[in-house]
Amino acid sequence: MKTLTNISLKDLTTMKLGGNASFIAEVYTKDDVVEACNSASSQKLPIFVLGGGSNIIARDEGFNGIIVHIHIPGFEVIDDDVNYTTIKIGAGENWDSVVERTINMKLSGIEAMSAIPGTAGATPVQNVGAYGQEIADTMQSLTAYDTKTKTFVELTNTDCEFTYRYSIFRGVSTGRYIITDITLKLSKKQPEPPFYSALQNYLDKHNITAFDVKTIRDAIIEIRKNKLPDPIILPNTGSFFKNAVVGKQQMDGLRAIDNDIPVFEMNDGSYKIPSGWLIEHAGLKGKLIHGIRIYDKNALVLVNESAKSYNDLAKARDEIIKTVHDTFQVQIQQEPLEI
Ligand SMILES: Cc1cc2nc3c(=O)[nH]c(=O)nc-3n(C[C@H](O)[C@H](O)[C@H](O)COP(=O)(O)OP(=O)(O)OC[C@H]3O[C@@H](n4cnc5c(N)ncnc54)[C@H](O)[C@@H]3O)c2cc1C
Repeated sequence: MKTLTNISLKDLTTMKLGGNASFIAEVYTKDDVVEACNSASSQKLPIFVLGGGSNIIARDEGFNGIIVHIHIPGFEVIDDDVNYTTIKIGAGENWDSVVERTINMKLSGIEAMSAIPGTAGATPVQNVGAYGQEIADTMQSLTAYDTKTKTFVELTNTDCEFTYRYSIFRGVSTGRYIITDITLKLSKKQPEPPFYSALQNYLDKHNITAFDVKTIRDAIIEIRKNKLPDPIILPNTGSFFKNAVVGKQQMDGLRAIDNDIPVFEMNDGSYKIPSGWLIEHAGLKGKLIHGIRIYDKNALVLVNESAKSYNDLAKARDEIIKTVHDTFQVQIQQEPLEI
């Protein structure tokens, strides 16, 4: 384990904002995780787990504690039969490289989650998902260090209590577990329609009628290129807001305001509305507020164009939430967690 002191969180997060962290523990093994946690306990310092920093907003005051920066490698086939291959993946593996490797093995289950930045170990945290797939669909179990009991535990898919962009890791157990590996069960059956509408539209437009995991990955990468700015060039965290989920009564009210509102009916009878649509139709797309640009190709994304601090981002975020609320009476919520 390598420990660094007084490191800028700006350099470790894709929004490129925030103050300094007192210590960073670069962890490569499960033993390193234990060592970092013991070091934090003995110094009475808090810890914060960091992967690729693509879904974290760092505040200006920085972090007076130890950032546990996950680099744990691993990609091991642990089971294989005629229908499925099960793979254990180290939490520090780059997620898109993992997807690419599974595509090369002709396995299906995460191909629509291509080109999502960050690490494999972060994917269960907000039940990462895109274009009709989410990690909850294929994740069998994970290993994590429980900072409460100071032991490694195995949690099953059910234990994680996955729902839309949610798991126990950002709910009841926030900050408790450090995920060290995840196990995915992937199918040998190639993808079949119906596909998520944006994906289907792309396939139709390009006359693609034969589908395998590589075709779907290539399509997703092309779709994303046009919708999502590269965080290396334009600092951002992807979708800055979760899609709004409303009940029947509120949905009726929204239809009265605008009958063309796009909506996805959920299994539990609630309705998911694209927050990007709400932001765009509240007249905010492309606007620059306190140095934060509401991305002109996708209003769900906030780009740090010239913000001087977290405070600028917070002011821009609050103004966007208020404008959407004043227009549609819907409260949208920030997706990335904060440190
Ligand atoms: C351009 C762009 C596009 C994106 N597209 C999508 C998308 O399509 N779908 C989607 O769901 N997300 C998307 N995201 C968000 C982000 O990429 C994902 O949430 C990703 O999983 C975050 O990984 P990370 O390693 O960067 O996590 P970080 O940002 O480092 O951490 C995110 C959270 O997970 C916790 N965490 C990280 N690693 C661990 C671990 N090993 N154990 C315990 N807790 C941990 C952190 O404490 C933090 O709370 C996008 C982001 C960008 C910049």
